[in-house]
Amino acid sequence: MKKPKIVILGAGYGGLMTAVRLQKLVGVNEADIVLVNKNDYHYETTWLHEASAGTLHHDRVRYDIRDVIDRNKVEFIQDTAIEVKIEEKKVITENNEINYDYLVVALGAEPETFGIKGLKEHAFSIVNVNAARQIREHIDYNFATYNTEEEKKEERLTFVVGGAGFTGIEFLGELTNRIPELCREYDVDYKKVRVICVEAAPMVLPGFDPELVNYAVAQLEKKGVEFMIGTAIKEATEDGIVVAKGEDEVQHIKANTVVWAAGVRGSSIIENSGFEAMRGRVKVEPDLRAPGHDNVFIVGDCSLIINEEINRPYPPTAQIAMQQGEVCARNLAALIRGKADLETFTPDIKGTVCSLGEDDAIGVAFGKKMYGGKASFMKKMVDNRALYMIGGPSLVLKKGKFNIL
Ligand code: FAD
Ligand code: NAD
Repeated sequence: MKKPKIVILGAGYGGLMTAVRLQKLVGVNEADIVLVNKNDYHYETTWLHEASAGTLHHDRVRYDIRDVIDRNKVEFIQDTAIEVKIEEKKVITENNEINYDYLVVALGAEPETFGIKGLKEHAFSIVNVNAARQIREHIDYNFATYNTEEEKKEERLTFVVGGAGFTGIEFLGELTNRIPELCREYDVDYKKVRVICVEAAPMVLPGFDPELVNYAVAQLEKKGVEFMIGTAIKEATEDGIVVAKGEDEVQHIKANTVVWAAGVRGSSIIENSGFEAMRGRVKVEPDLRAPGHDNVFIVGDCSLIINEEINRPYPPTAQIAMQQGEVCARNLAALIRGKADLETFTPDIKGTVCSLGEDDAIGVAFGKKMYGGKASFMKKMVDNRALYMIGGPSLVLKKGKFNIL
């Protein structure tokens, strides 16, 4: 009998977890497993703010996919998916067409720009290794150029972060740690540097514990961040941004560096392929399949699941993507063995920890609030755990964070 072919798109947290769990559950004779990813490496999306600020080299945040998959069981194809032809059960990629019996879509997120003018052209987003490397280079370049120009341009030393969600705050923590180093390296007066965070909501980290948020704001303000709260970015231009507080107070801020960290949507491939979605995220069935498509699973940031307690979607996180990967692998194994009863996915939220640089953090974990060194230690443990879950102790030893004292 012909073996079923399982194709997994994306080797991020959701896709790679599905692959490494599936390779343990399924025998070589039971299925052909194909993993498709744009790059030959996996990157820790959750560490990209560090590479972007230049506090961690980009090679530290990535590793070779072939190092963690069992190549006897999983065929890895480096390629870029373009579209899923759902009816024809095939994926169109940049270089090929791949047929499947079962598909897992785990292509992650893209920046949500809400149609704001100029953002795509003039702002950076922390989305992958290439983007992180470019942001770091751009920051360095502006510092390096400042003193070479006769007419000093303040906008070279003005850094705007759009959004004070977790990504914006974590990036600010790293950036403000890096700036003193850059000032020393390029003989720039620290007092001339401006770091501005623009947040549309009335508070930083909307919805998070107010006491911890106050701590984070105070720590970042100490490191020089100016918060513009209740203020929305309305436009990005060649030389900065336009912001507005309410209807009238419109202001133009000159800045050479604008990092847009104000939300995400699921991969555009979801909508381009005709899946019914909200902001690129498919509201999946309890067993993680796409409604109406019994052979297609969707995990990670491309999926949407509702937190029944508050009747709102769970925020897309690596924590959920990895847990989904585990359930998705078990459900695939059940399906290929002809079982009809699939497992229901229920997120097990262990907490949220937000770094404020390498040495500080805030968080709630296992129901306990924490901040400072303790929270920072917890954050590194969470980062190391993600490595362990996919690549075991050897990956932790290779890529783990041990600067914990
Ligand atoms: P990803 O892990 O992003 O993986 C997607 C994969 O698909 C990538 O390998 C990509 O290269 C590949 N891909 C994309 N398009 C294509 C294509 N067309 N063809 C082939 N391959 C493709 N969550 C937490 O739980 N905790 C945190 O501390 C945390 N910190 C974060 C910090 C930052 C800076 C950011 C940006 C996010 C953070 N998140 C955190 C959110 C978390 O990173 C995401 O929810 C998680 O990465 C989603 O996993 P995923 O598998 O859906 O996508
Ligand atoms: P987010 O949606 O969580 O936050 C975006 C912020 O941008 C919001 O506070 C929003 O009010 C603000 N915003 C929106 N439009 C704006 C505008 N025009 N001008 C100014 N501000 C505007 O997005 P994120 O921070 O990118 O996070 C994406 C996902 O990744 C979330 O699910 C988050 O939980 C997760 N994440 C988790 C961690 C962590 O656990 N440590 C870290 C980073 C990201």
